[in-house]
Amino acid sequence: MTTIFEKIISGEIPADIVYQDELVTAFRDIHPLAPTHILIVPNKAVATVNDLSEEDAAAAGRMLLVAGRIAAQEGIAESGYRLIINCNRDGGQEVFHLHMHLLGGRRMGPMVARN
Ligand code: 5GP
Repeated sequence: MTTIFEKIISGEIPADIVYQDELVTAFRDIHPLAPTHILIVPNKAVATVNDLSEEDAAAAGRMLLVAGRIAAQEGIAESGYRLIINCNRDGGQEVFHLHMHLLGGRRMGPMVARN
């Protein structure tokens, strides 16, 4: 099933892309929850972390490397930031194309809400 993120990666629909290479794409979240809220996604359509295979290791690693570089570009590397990957229902995943949220520019608060 094609997600909106595949269309962003291919350029079919617009997004504020801040980084793209042969493995990953990073773009600003359409509903930002912090001054910096960027999504980093593999160019290959992998639905969730559960669906990663050995052949995706390079892209998965690149997502982390790119997160650090973008944080520096955004000027939040030293102040700090949070990386989040939601998986399936309990993780709160809404778009089933693996993505890492890069959030910063303010104190991010408790790691998770208490029930
Ligand atoms: P999830 O809840 O799946 O971890 O996060 C999905 C994220 O994708 C949400 O933060 C949502 O705002 C973002 N999002 C959904 N549709 C679009 C879109 O069309 N463009 C962009 N830039 N972000 C989107």
